[in-house]
Amino acid sequence: MKPAAFDHHAPADVGEAVAMLADLGEDAKVIAGGQSLVPMLALRLAVPEHLVDLRRTAGLRGVAEHGPADGRDGVLRVGACTTQTAIERSAEAARAVPLLARATPLIGHFQIRNRGTVGGSLAHADAAAEYPAVALALGALLHARSPRGARTVPADRFFTGMWTTDLADDELLTAVDFPVWRGRRGFAIEEFARRGGDFAIAGAAVAVELDAADRVRRCGIGLFGLGATPLRAAAAEEAATGTAVADVTADEVGRAAVAGLDAVPADLHASADHRRHVGAAVTARAWRRAVREAAHA
Ligand SMILES: Cc1cc2nc3c(=O)[nH]c(=O)nc-3n(C[C@H](O)[C@H](O)[C@H](O)COP(=O)(O)OP(=O)(O)OC[C@H]3O[C@@H](n4cnc5c(N)ncnc54)[C@H](O)[C@@H]3O)c2cc1C
Repeated sequence: MKPAAFDHHAPADVGEAVAMLADLGEDAKVIAGGQSLVPMLALRLAVPEHLVDLRRTAGLRGVAEHGPADGRDGVLRVGACTTQTAIERSAEAARAVPLLARATPLIGHFQIRNRGTVGGSLAHADAAAEYPAVALALGALLHARSPRGARTVPADRFFTGMWTTDLADDELLTAVDFPVWRGRRGFAIEEFARRGGDFAIAGAAVAVELDAADRVRRCGIGLFGLGATPLRAAAAEEAATGTAVADVTADEVGRAAVAGLDAVPADLHASADHRRHVGAAVTARAWRRAVREAAHA
């Protein structure tokens, strides 16, 4: 099928883009890389009358590190329209936020990453996507703009339902702050997919920081493919935090991460039980690798 007819708009900057969204109302949709939206248009799962195209909108691209302030982590600020390939090629992203860099090659194929954007992936909020899980594991902060002004939303309040976020119809995601964890930290992302480039059946993104006595000072576990939305394994994180790392087995963390999940999807690719089993296994594997890296940091 082909998309239904639409009017194309190309705002020059963010102010013009949000004014357009407010003006055009619910008949308008933002398009960034088009890697998720174009298939939806072609299948007529989305039939907007207006597309607000961000490809040439100034001020939405780039990667810049901002130092720590008020005893908090520094952040890597990533413009919403930064492509996934730009992240893959960024030495700064690899050094400052290794989890983001390591997640990127797992997204689709390079042709998709050449077009697909960081903001598009987060705004699309696919439960099986890698970046939302990374944002949850690290505690990212999302920047949004509308005609009412700018606001920030923590990742754990951003994903509100299936393919649904906290963004209003006239709101644009402009940038994402990924915290730069310092000290003895380790990161790993693990997933299982039937073929390279497919969406994962289940996956986990893990961040761990150890203190000098080898206790878990903090940790973050983001799960994908295991619910209607990207998920944070808060109970598993809480159980591990403050514990001597030798006293927490990776298998326990894996089991705890999937224990409370009540809406695990079942489809042609995997039953809910199989997904749960795979989810526990990939979380355990990611935990083990992240802890090993933190212990040697
Ligand atoms: C064959 C194939 C395989 C794929 N495999 C994977 C995979 O394994 N893992 C994975 O994570 N993804 C995968 N994807 C999806 C891909 O990563 C997309 O790039 C991503 O999901 C959307 O990014 P985009 O920039 O293309 O967004 P678009 O398709 O342009 O937009 C997606 C949605 O986000 C909204 N949006 C976009 N930008 C903004 C913004 N700045 N503010 C507000 N709303 C916005 C749009 O309105 C739309 O609703 C795959 C895609 C294909 C076609």
